[in-house]
Amino acid sequence: MLFRPTGCELCDFQGYRGRIAIMELLRIDAGIDELIARRATAHEIRSRALLQGFTTLADDGMHRVLNGTTSLEELARVVDLTDRM
Ligand SMILES: [Zn+2]
Repeated sequence: MLFRPTGCELCDFQGYRGRIAIMELLRIDAGIDELIARRATAHEIRSRALLQGFTTLADDGMHRVLNGTTSLEELARVVDLTDRM
């Protein structure tokens, strides 16, 4: 189930109040370091990171959409979701 902003007096009828951060953090472990050292492509590094459980901006944002913190429309406004649809 996805939520949609409805709005009220508290949020000036925007449906949003305040801001939240969405984040991605790539920890450079030995495997990623090795890929960088041999000038691997961004695609290779991303694939390796995802295998190790790396959470992308889109993943973090989708988590916020699914728990009702924000809307899919708002996430799509700030993050490129084309490879997720
Ligand atoms: Zn409101």
